[in-house]
Amino acid sequence: MSTHVGPADIAELERHVAPNYHPLPVVLAEAEGAWVTDVEGRRYLDALAGYSALNFGHRHPALIEAAETQLRRVTLTSRAFHHDQLGPFCDDLSRLTGLGSVLPMNTGAEGVETAIKLARRWGYQVRGIPADQATIVVAARNFHGRTTTIVGFSSDPTAREGFGPFTPGFRSVPFGDAQALADAIDETTAAVLLEPIQGEAGVIIPPEGYLTEVRRITRDAGVLFIDDEIQSGLGRTGRTFACDLEEVRPDVMILGKALGGGVVPVSAVIADPDIMDVFTPGSHGSTFGGNPLACAVGRAVVALLETGEFQARATEMGARLATGLKGLRSDRVREVRSIGLWVGIDLEPGVPARAVCEGLLRRGVLSKDAHERTVRLAPPLVITEDEVDLLVAALQDSFDAL
Ligand SMILES: *Cc1c(COP(=O)(O)O)cnc(C)c1O
Repeated sequence: MSTHVGPADIAELERHVAPNYHPLPVVLAEAEGAWVTDVEGRRYLDALAGYSALNFGHRHPALIEAAETQLRRVTLTSRAFHHDQLGPFCDDLSRLTGLGSVLPMNTGAEGVETAIKLARRWGYQVRGIPADQATIVVAARNFHGRTTTIVGFSSDPTAREGFGPFTPGFRSVPFGDAQALADAIDETTAAVLLEPIQGEAGVIIPPEGYLTEVRRITRDAGVLFIDDEIQSGLGRTGRTFACDLEEVRPDVMILGKALGGGVVPVSAVIADPDIMDVFTPGSHGSTFGGNPLACAVGRAVVALLETGEFQARATEMGARLATGLKGLRSDRVREVRSIGLWVGIDLEPGVPARAVCEGLLRRGVLSKDAHERTVRLAPPLVITEDEVDLLVAALQDSFDAL
């Protein structure tokens, strides 16, 4: 294409697209590894990686191979019948998590909804909570997805406004405050639901020992600890799961995003069988959940994680990125948080994060703001040293140009 694709062209191209997103002005056409190419042939380093759905980069050969092989066999059966990929996929996830029972779904929000249903039914049947009284303790500034129930316990007005009435039964406490969490638990509480590190809130890392405390408090109170690892899990932080950073074992884990390898939507809820077995035939399900294509790709994802290579890369490249970010010279930066290859850069008041992301786009780097004042980076774990350096240089240039 000879002429530049500008905002007017994009508006024309997407005239039938619903306005629930505000994307950066770039139209992507192809991708490989850590790089994407737009319709004009310009290349960008993808420093967002589909909000961690692309931990293994775009079109990782092992994942594409698994998908192509399965595409030639069988893609969908429904759960009305058995198929030969489901059992092995659940074995793999059980081995990866150390939890014995796997319930596959598709999107992250469905995984969270599944975990909420699991916790409530467990609360009534096992903990003896009076009918319809169950509560779940959540953290302020959480992000667990976009269904009406989930946005009902969000603290983000943009996510909630106009979507009520909301599902009752949730109590919100400040994230990182173990005492507040303990105080919110009573005889109606079935579970505590947390992101071990809050992604959408801007990569908020809790104080050291918080997850250990949450584990102790929930165990002592006899309530479930549900760990939403949809964004934090599968290598992003340098460990397989963010809970591994404190060697904490939750009762229930929710996985999504990178579990589908950037190829298909795959999520899963994983728990010990004595919890999961409150589900009985007909009490929960999904037409597409656990389909053969999803399972085949998910198995290939687990195989990649079992090499340990990606966790190690997240640690090594993350350390290099953190060092680079420490060296940033700008009075526009208020705070930088990072863990593994996951970064939140808070800007000083009056500096819109979107302006930094637009600056990065002009310099060939894709990123995304989280709320108005945080730039969020989550490059694919296949990123190289040179690409990390390129990312840091592009950030410095973008700050200099503000
Ligand atoms: C993205 C995300 C979800 C929701 O996943 P979807 O696939 O978008 O429904 C839930 N929890 C966390 C922590 C997430 O980052």
